[in-house]
Order: sequence, then C-alpha cells, then structure tokens
Amino acid sequence: MTDNAVESEGVKLQTPSRVNPEFKHEVLSMPGGETLKYCFQCGTCTSCCPIADITDSYRPRTAIRLAQLGLEERLLSSDTLWLCAACYTCTDHCPQGVEVKDVLRVFQNLAVKKGYIPRVYREVGKNILNAGYAYKISKFKMKKRIEKGLPPLSETPPAHMEKLAKATGFHETIAEMEDEE
Ligand code: SF4
Ligand code: SF4
Repeated sequence: MTDNAVESEGVKLQTPSRVNPEFKHEVLSMPGGETLKYCFQCGTCTSCCPIADITDSYRPRTAIRLAQLGLEERLLSSDTLWLCAACYTCTDHCPQGVEVKDVLRVFQNLAVKKGYIPRVYREVGKNILNAGYAYKISKFKMKKRIEKGLPPLSETPPAHMEKLAKATGFHETIAEMEDEE
C-alpha cells in the first residue's frame, strides 16, 4: 500500500519491509480483530468495495494480507487505510465470516496508538479537543447564525467530551503528535 521504493544511483529499488511476526497476534487479541485469521484471500471484499472501485490504491484484501504477514509498518503508515467509508459491504459479502470492517477499524486504532495518523485527521482531532467541532467555525459564520435567528454555538467543547478524551488518552495522543511536528 505504501511506496517502499528508494533511489540508488538513479535506479529505483524496492526496499524490503520490516516484518513483525507478533503483529497478527496483536490484531487478533483486540476487540473486532478476532476474525483476521479466517481470511483466505479470495478478494471478494475488494471486488465489492465501493472505494476500491474508484481508486486502485485501496484494497481491503491487501490490508488484511499485510497484517497476516506481519508487515505492520507498511500497513499502519499507509494513508489509504483511512479511505474506508465504513459501509460494511465487505463484511456482508465475506465467505469466510471475516468481520472485515471491524478488522480495518482495529488497524486504524493501532495506527493512531503507534503514531501513524494522517495530518488531516490530526487537525480534526485538535479542533475537536479545542472547540468540540471537527472543523473551525469562523466568527463570520457565528455572526451569520445569529443574524438568521439560530442559537449561538459554544466555543468550548462540552464537558463530557473533555472527560472522554482524557479517559481514552486522546489528549495525550494529539499532544504527542503536536510535539513531533
Ligand atoms: S472476502 Fe473475506 S476471505 Fe475473501 S479476501 Fe476478503 S476478508 Fe479475506
Ligand atoms: S467497509 Fe470499507 S473496506 Fe468495506 S466495503 Fe465499505 S468502504 Fe470498502
């Protein structure tokens, strides 16, 4: 899923990906990841996936295979992991009973836990922590709401969201990412 090619003396070479043999066990031990082991790579999930239909870079079958092979870094660092629309078509069609969407969610959760999160989602996370909304609402829009008789929006996140973020460690995750930038 990621481009592992490097340049050497003007020639593009494919570098071997690191293998973590424990990775599949980590996935299997997480809620939603248990059915990873049943996949026999038939490709049905990819053939029925609406996202795979519009881009060659997204393949749920490949994501599952990477996990089975222990290619953790290659899988978790891939931005395409985040393209899933959570429609569950793959889960409905899998002949092996693999909970494909749930397994993909486990990959995403592990990606966040291990510091792989696309910049766009970092920004969304920061906005939610700071204001309680996925994107910043400008002062202009706030003013327009009032002009149209709509109630004003809070400029701080609701208390329960703050509590949830602290309990799940989301605060720390976002703070660590800011430090790295
Ligand atoms: S449909 Fe199920 S068995 Fe087939 S490749 Fe996808 S996850 Fe594996
Ligand atoms: S849940 Fe995600 S991977 Fe599965 S079919 Fe829908 S978009 Fe594709």
